[in-house]
Order: sequence, then structure tokens, then C-alpha cells
Amino acid sequence: MKNYSDDQISLLELLAFKEDVFLMVAPSFVVDFDYKTFVPLMKGLGFDKVFEITFGAKMVNNNYQKFIVSNKDQEKFISSTCPLSVNLIIAKYPNLKKFLLPFNSPMIAMAKIIKKNFSKNKIVFLSPCNAKKIEAKKSGLIDCVITFKELKDIIEKEKPIPMKCSHLFDRFYNDYTKIYPLPGGLTKTLHLKGIFKENETISVDGQRNIINLFDSKPKQKFFDILFCKGGCIGGDGISIKTPIFFKKFSVTSYLKQSSKEKIGNRKGLEKYTKGISFKKKF
Ligand code: SF4
Repeated sequence: MKNYSDDQISLLELLAFKEDVFLMVAPSFVVDFDYKTFVPLMKGLGFDKVFEITFGAKMVNNNYQKFIVSNKDQEKFISSTCPLSVNLIIAKYPNLKKFLLPFNSPMIAMAKIIKKNFSKNKIVFLSPCNAKKIEAKKSGLIDCVITFKELKDIIEKEKPIPMKCSHLFDRFYNDYTKIYPLPGGLTKTLHLKGIFKENETISVDGQRNIINLFDSKPKQKFFDILFCKGGCIGGDGISIKTPIFFKKFSVTSYLKQSSKEKIGNRKGLEKYTKGISFKKKF
């Protein structure tokens, strides 16, 4: 092997065994990859199906919303989609642990949806950060996590030939949650109007800012927190070094461009999640 990390080797071994290997992609992938050529390139590398985890994010939103509405009198609600933010709350603010929203992250939700709808397959997650590797391992649902940096390195060395196929993701597809990796992306897509007043919600990114916020004994009710500065587009697994502003532009332009496309039967529908529990205890 060509000087690869353990996870890169695991991925190449999975692809070499010619099992059905499915790739789940975090929507921040557009900061490092061109979405018009990405799916054909991944299929050329050996993946059988390529999904974005945006439908998993939609299901997380649905569960958050139902939970908040039926527990309106609870003092606070804290998002739990980012593993490092969850670790920080549990370690530094154990009295706030009970306010973490008790549901899976979009990555785990999407893995559950895939497992339910396809019987035999291996699942790989393409991640903007290394923290997702630990979360995935604990879940037992995901066979390998690889960062954007690691995948770019593989592409450079293996030089896959893009497959002649559609550039669209396979089902299950969702559009509006493509802004999830940005600070406040969860709040914007959660449809909280009518549930909270504007001054009752707050979005914060960056470890220091989260600590400053909770040290100040905040009065808000809903907290949308992402550990990395700039949100998931600031993750340690991202390769490109451009300023956060440009990365943010990549995500918002991607949402605009892709939402014009006809996705037909690729759209994620709630019927595909029937019987799945997205609950999680912290
Ligand atoms: S904010 Fe950072 S640590 Fe949290 S999920 Fe996103 S990239 Fe990973």
C-alpha cells in the first residue's frame, strides 16, 4: 500500500472485496470536491451507491421538532448533532447533560435508514472531521470513516476513472438540510417559528464561544452548537485552506444549484424510515 493511514487501507480493502459498499457524504463535501463530478468519480473508485446524509438530517429535525413541541415546558434544549459539542457539555457542564436532545446525529440516522432499506452492504462515511470516527465506531453501524483529506489523497494516488453515470446522489435525497454544516443551519431548517421567540434561540460555533456562552448562564431555550469555528466547514478533516467565507459560499451555492435539479424518485420520504427509532441516550 502507498503510505496510507489505517482508515484509508480499510476503505481500499472494502472496495477491493467487491462487496456492496455504500458511501454516505456529509453535505460540507462541496468545500473540497466538485459536486458535478463527485458521484461518477466515487462510482469509478468502486462505490456501488453514493448518498448524501441530508435525509438523515431531515429525520433528526423532525424528531427534534416533535420532541420540543411535546416538551414545551422544559427549561432548555441543546442540539446533539456534533460529537465534540456533546462531549464538551457532558464533561464541563454535567448539569446541562439532561438538556441534550436525545436523538442520533444525521450520520447515524442515515446509516439506520440505509440498513433498513438495503439488506447487505458495507457503509463508509465521508467526514469533515476525525471526531466522527469515534462516534461511528461506537454505533457499530458504519464500517469505515474517512476524512475529506484522506479521500483526496486516495484519489490523487489511485487516479480512478469516473463512471459514465448521473452526477445525482442515489436515493434518499433532501435539499434544504444542505446548509446543516453552517453555523445556524440546524436552527434555520428546524422551523422553530411559533415554538420559540427569536430571542429564545441561539447558534454558536467554536469551542471557546460555546464555553463563553454556557459560562454566562444564558437565558435562551434552544442552543444550536457546533464545536468547530465556522461549523462543520471548519472541521479538521477538510483539506482546502481557504477562509471560512469562501467555504460558506461553496455550501450556499451548492444548495442553490442543486435545488433546481429534478430529483424524481431519489427524494427521501418518511415511508423509508418506518419503524426506525432515532432515539439516543446521553
Ligand atoms: S462541528 Fe466540527 S467536530 Fe462537530 S461535527 Fe462538525 S466538523 Fe465535526
